[in-house]
Amino acid sequence: MSSYIGRFAPSPTGPLHAGSLVTALASYLDARAHDGRWLLRIEDLDPRRETPGAAQAIIAELAMLGFEADAPVLFQSARHAAYQDAFERLQDAGLVYPCACSRREIADSQVSPTPDGEAVYPGTCRAGLPPGRAARSWRLRVGDGTITWADRPAGWDHGRTQRSVLAQGVGDFVVRRADGSWAYQLAVVVDDAWQGITDVVRGADLVGSTARQIHLRRLLAYPEIRTLHVPVVLAQDGQKLSKQTGAAPITAGDPLPALERAMAHLGLAVPTRGTIGQFWRHAIQRWRDSSWTQGVS
Ligand code: GLU
Repeated sequence: MSSYIGRFAPSPTGPLHAGSLVTALASYLDARAHDGRWLLRIEDLDPRRETPGAAQAIIAELAMLGFEADAPVLFQSARHAAYQDAFERLQDAGLVYPCACSRREIADSQVSPTPDGEAVYPGTCRAGLPPGRAARSWRLRVGDGTITWADRPAGWDHGRTQRSVLAQGVGDFVVRRADGSWAYQLAVVVDDAWQGITDVVRGADLVGSTARQIHLRRLLAYPEIRTLHVPVVLAQDGQKLSKQTGAAPITAGDPLPALERAMAHLGLAVPTRGTIGQFWRHAIQRWRDSSWTQGVS
């Protein structure tokens, strides 16, 4: 076994679909091709966005498709104490503050929209809550520094160096909401560190979160993580296929067609139809021989 540890971290907003299967497959093949471990984490942070039964459905579907996790599934709903601990460390360092602003207020404060359409927090509550206003969330101070990073060479921008100034791109961002619930950015960083993840392989739709996660990771003194963002599956209208847009669940029964489609999406030659065991042996070998593995020694 190598020191490589990868993961697949779906949010249980619906069953697995063609898009999430591509991410699951890429993360799994990368872990296996590096003789590493692969972990499954259910990101059930927000009960309001969760579809009842989806977490168990995803776990069952992955097992049916032949994915084998190397540790028991981690549920974010069981990790509040760990997030609280990290939050308190940020709080003790004076890095978080309560914020009263609503989404609408932040959107209305924009002079011009950012390239990715995300509103930049203007810093309204950084020096304290305005009189008579109650906190709606807790934000992390981002400072003016530039975050420099690169995806692995086969990733979304071919390993080119990325420079993000968080203060310009997103501003101080939410790590906790006033109801006590945790933001994805904080939870993902705490759990990746706790699970010892060395490589994050996920959809390119999450590229925009990477600089925030690197920033948090550094503040919390966690080890650095390599990233590989793979192309997302688009619906016919060009939108990202997602559970929210009603993407069709993959068909149960014969697992091979869905796996083959996911492989083709990653540009890998699909092995001749055989058993599921043969599929996995071929797929791991194809990934190992492909350019996807560049950048990991
Ligand atoms: N839970 C996130 C999602 O389903 C993925 C998180 C990640 O891979 O960092 O979109």
